[in-house]
Amino acid sequence: MHGLMQDWPLLCHKVLDHAAAYHGGREIISRSVEGPFHTTTYSDLRKRALRCAKRLDMAGIGNGDRVATLAWNTWRHLEAWYGLLGIGAVYHTVNPRLFPEQIVWIINHAEDRLIFVDLTFLPIIEAIRDKLPTIERVIVLTDADHMPELKIDAVDYESWLAEADSDFAWKEFDENQAAGMCYTSGTTGNPKGVVYSHRSNVLHAMAACVPDMLGLSSRDRIMPVVPMFHANCWSIAFTAPMSGATMVMPGGKMDGASIFECLDTHKVTVTAAVPTVWLMLLQYLEESGKSLDILERVVIGGSACPRAMIETFQNVYNVEVIHAWGMTEMSPLGTLCSMKPEVADLSGDDKLDLQEKQGHPPFTVEMKITDDDNRSQPWDGETYGKLKVRGPAVAKAYFKGDGGRIVDDEGYFDTGDVAHVDANGYMQITDRSKDVIKSGGEWISSIELENIAVGHADVAEAAVIGVAHPKWDERPLLIIVAKPGVSVDGADILDYMRPKVAKWWMPDAVEFIDEIPHTATGKIQKMALRDQFADYVFE
Ligand code: AMP
Repeated sequence: MHGLMQDWPLLCHKVLDHAAAYHGGREIISRSVEGPFHTTTYSDLRKRALRCAKRLDMAGIGNGDRVATLAWNTWRHLEAWYGLLGIGAVYHTVNPRLFPEQIVWIINHAEDRLIFVDLTFLPIIEAIRDKLPTIERVIVLTDADHMPELKIDAVDYESWLAEADSDFAWKEFDENQAAGMCYTSGTTGNPKGVVYSHRSNVLHAMAACVPDMLGLSSRDRIMPVVPMFHANCWSIAFTAPMSGATMVMPGGKMDGASIFECLDTHKVTVTAAVPTVWLMLLQYLEESGKSLDILERVVIGGSACPRAMIETFQNVYNVEVIHAWGMTEMSPLGTLCSMKPEVADLSGDDKLDLQEKQGHPPFTVEMKITDDDNRSQPWDGETYGKLKVRGPAVAKAYFKGDGGRIVDDEGYFDTGDVAHVDANGYMQITDRSKDVIKSGGEWISSIELENIAVGHADVAEAAVIGVAHPKWDERPLLIIVAKPGVSVDGADILDYMRPKVAKWWMPDAVEFIDEIPHTATGKIQKMALRDQFADYVFE
């Protein structure tokens, strides 16, 4: 017997319809790439997205066609996403921080037909244009007045858009149709294309909105500092219009002063980004003596959030931290660390201990931790294993079948992370499986050591890698970037760590460097550090 409810496909552009119908006057405020702040509303953004859809349709773009975007978070980027979604085409966000050769590889692999590009990234496109045979047209996300002299053929977005009106109806199609694409940074082999569907994006956004996850409401003013090109913007391009929240888009300026200006001027209540962004903001706040009077909560993920960062946000600036974990293959949200009743009364160090964990999953994410033989491990907060996940917004394969089969017989995807889960269902990542340090047959968590080291007042950033050791196989080496203008010695940092770390976990040595290399999504590039210290010998 079938249910007798209506067929109403879960299509992403219905999210914008909802926002325009019920929250039409709510604002989307962007720092434009040209400079000044720009304000529009959900109602007007929908009209322009329809116009964009019509213009794309006129250009012969349709079902399943991939279109690249190389752009910051602004209203134009958002309306281009919805324009593409509304005709069944596929937004393909490209990370401009990748090397040009990687960008060429990704665009060619995706066979993108058009590219929307911000003024900032024109030099990249100019340099590689002749290597992009599938790209039919370059559309620059600006107006005619701001179009620079270019060495390549390109049109400004506003002139291109003006060739259509907004008298257009979204296309209807199956909810399982592809909606968006994002390539994983892939430290081994070529990048791999993750393909989101309309259904997965909508379900993921609904799961992410609930109070124990992002907890968004129409009273919120959310600023996704996390770029739209990083893992599907952590759902915010869908969760904000779905909940009718005001959006503040930070454009291309990520320094502490610029982020503070957006937060403060536009009265942001909730925001989200990787720890490196928050390091810059906290440094700016410390230097300027400014405070965060309106901001209520900050979602921090993408790499482990250091304990000291949680403590500073909460105790100094009265902003609640929500530690989050996820990955491109998971759309991306996997867990958020919100307080269940079992832990709601924790305070002080006990609360921080909990918040260092990456948290618990929303409905739609099933997780398990297993040993090497895929046997589930107990949830005791200690036994660690490979973290595996399944659900309607988790990848079952990569674009073009790259990488072969990626799920086990029960449909679980191996995240490549090592974690433990406690009795209340809070998961904590101890490492990427390839970064785990194996000492005398036991594992040492590099993430935990890094988190403790950055708690030292003179440490700006810390990384721990395993270095070959004749007796123990591997021992931890602590690599430090000191805060500007301070002089600190390794022994002092180790003294600080000693009471907080099991004896056999203590790093065998400390090395100082000027800068820790980061990936295009702000993660510490452990592989580069391992190469740099490949010949390191402990004294
Ligand atoms: P990406 O798909 O580029 O966002 O990378 C996903 C990976 O980032 C995960 O598999 C984790 O290894 C790492 N990651 C994301 N969030 C966290 C977090 N809160 N703590 C530790 N690692 C994280």
